[in-house]
Formats: sequence, C-alpha cells, structure tokens
Amino acid sequence: MKVELQNLTKIFPSRNKKEGGADVVAVNNFTFTIPDGKLVGLLGPSGCGKSTTLYMICGLQKPSSGKLLFGDDDVTNLPPESRGVGLVFQNYALYPHMTVKQNIMFPLQNLKGADKLSKDEMLDRAYNVAKIVQIDELMERKPSELSGGQQQRVAIARALVKMPRVLLLDEPLSNLDARLRLQTREEIKRIQKETRITTVFVTHDQEEAMSISDMIVVMKLGVVQQIGKPQDVYNSPANLFVAKFLGTPPINVFRGEVKNGKLHIGDEIVMDVKGVADQEVTVGIRPEGFILKADGPFTCNMQNVEVMGRDVSIVSTHECSLNETIRSIIDADNDVNPEAKTVRFALKPNKVFLFNKETEERIYVEEK
Ligand code: ADP
Ligand code: MG
Repeated sequence: MKVELQNLTKIFPSRNKKEGGADVVAVNNFTFTIPDGKLVGLLGPSGCGKSTTLYMICGLQKPSSGKLLFGDDDVTNLPPESRGVGLVFQNYALYPHMTVKQNIMFPLQNLKGADKLSKDEMLDRAYNVAKIVQIDELMERKPSELSGGQQQRVAIARALVKMPRVLLLDEPLSNLDARLRLQTREEIKRIQKETRITTVFVTHDQEEAMSISDMIVVMKLGVVQQIGKPQDVYNSPANLFVAKFLGTPPINVFRGEVKNGKLHIGDEIVMDVKGVADQEVTVGIRPEGFILKADGPFTCNMQNVEVMGRDVSIVSTHECSLNETIRSIIDADNDVNPEAKTVRFALKPNKVFLFNKETEERIYVEEK
C-alpha cells in the first residue's frame, strides 16, 4: 500500500496568544509518496515534527491542511481505527496483568461485524505473528517476565496482528540498551522484509535510520530537507544541515573562499572547484575525504592520532575550522607521526561539499 502525503501541514495554535506566544508549525507542507512495501525512515532532531507526521498518518492528529491517501483512498478524514494502521510507540505500554498471548490478541477482540473473529481464528493469528517476531515460546508469560527487547517484540506483534496496511513505529528502540537496540533494529528490518508492509520508522538517530531504511526523509523545524536512499543522501547532501546530521564522525566544516575556480582554505589552495563563481563559502569535508600526503595542499596542525584497528583517526586543528577539532579517517597502513607539528592532506573531490555561506544551501561543483 503506497501512502501519499500531499502538502500535509500541522499548526498547533498558541496557548498564550495574548502574551505574544506564536503558533507552532509542527509540520510544514510535507509532500511525499511512500512507495508500497518500503521502509521509510523519518529522521531529524527532537521537535522537528517526526511524531506529528506519524500521528497524522495514523489519524491521531488531524492535519491543519493537506491530504493523505492510502493507495487511491483519501483517508484524511477517517478515524484511526478505520485506516488499517499498526502503531508502536517508544513506551510500548503492554497490559501488565495479561499474558503475552492476551496482549497480542487484545486488538482483535474489538473487531465488529464482518471483521469479527472466532476464538480459534484469533489464536491462529496471534501465534502467526508471534512466530514472525520470534516470541511464540513466551506466550504464557506476563510482560514483567520479559526482557526489554522481548517486550518490544510483543508490542510489534500486537501492531501486526490486525494485518495493518501501514506500520508506524515512533522511536521504537529508544528504551533499549545499545546491544539490544542493534539486534532489534535488524529484527525490525527482517520482519518488514518478510511482511512487506509499508512502514514508517521515526528516529532521531541517524545511524539507526541509515542502516534500516530503504529511503530516509530528513526534517528540520517541520520542513523536509531532503529525501532519498540513505547512501545517496550521505553522498550528496542538499544543504549544510543534512551534511552535518548524517555521518559519524561528523563532517568537518571550514570557512573557505572560491577564487578563479580554486577553493582556498586559509592561505592554501586545496582543490579545483570548476564552474563555481567567486564567493566566500562554507566547506564540508567528510572524515574519509582526506588523503595523507607529505606534499599535500592542505596543512593542518597535528594534535594526536587515535588507532581504531582497521583505521586511524588523525585529530588536528586549523584556523579556518568551524569545529574545535578536525577528524580524518585514514587507512591504518599509513605511517603517521603523532609527534609532527603539522599534517598535510590531499582531498577527495567527491567527499568535499561547498555550501552558500548565508543560505547554507549546497553549491554544486562541475565534474571534470
Ligand atoms: P519530534 O517527534 O520530531 O520530536 P514533534 O512532532 O513531537 O517532534 O513536535 C513538533 C513540534 O510541535 C514541537 O515544537 C512540539 O513542541 C510541537 N507539538 C507537538 N505536539 C504538540 C501539541 N499537542 N500541542 C502543541 N504543540 C505540539
Ligand atoms: Mg517524537
């Protein structure tokens, strides 16, 4: 089932208009078609409108304007229970006095009319989804007798048991410890692939979104910044915000200037930037965009070298750096002298991005 968001907007009116409180535009003119059977990651810092978008898709929030379609059906004004959506929250509130089995079957018990199921049919469905999320051995336990990861799987099973057309997950891994989070996210990916239910996964964690999603949507202050395959967005960010939000270690940012098709950082000409008009720019260089080179054009002040097994991370500084330190990731085969005063690099052109100094929008460099 494809899900189409058309100019979806949500404005929360100010509660204290008299004291000059402004309305909150939580989601601003969101247009996107979520392809059938795909997992889309909705990504951005806290407060950027991810949950509000999700709640509009499931019907818990009514859009201020815009339209929402499931397939060809306009569902904008349908109540949540008529939309065929499954929802999993960060706080997966399971009923503590019920067993796992009863928790999973619970959403089926209220089905009315033609949808009404017999007890056997309910059990059948409950065991089927329990198998998918691999908790069918735990059906007689109470939630308090489960680990966090197992509880979250029960919550997912409960969302799946009604065979939703769309699955919505709002930061479903936030309450799990690091190892479980990794494991459960792989689990969610597997379940999504198996069931092929169109899924929206909300997170503020870029690594989580990148690893699990077929496509990501990056949001800031209610406005969509960029949509694409995770690797494409990483490789070609549309603006400085997106460039900074994706990637660990984060992108290194510098003040620079373009003069006669050459990029200057400080006193050095570090790279050719064909087709870019003369101007001051903000430069982003991915940590993997540096090549250690004794006569390289870009000189930084050596601070220290961190060995990370396969790679080494060179930590350095530069007067034009907008971050306190610069991180360059270099293959561990390189011989780096941490005692040296300076370290010199050449740059990989496809790992260097230019941004307009004021608007922070990307300035594209002609390829050679
Ligand atoms: P996220 O999930 O990305 O952290 P939210 O969608 O929850 O962000 O919130 C987006 C913005 O809308 C925030 O500024 C938040 O304070 C505001 N907001 C969310 N829900 C309400 C509400 N019910 N009433 C008023 N403002 C709200
Ligand atoms: Mg939220």
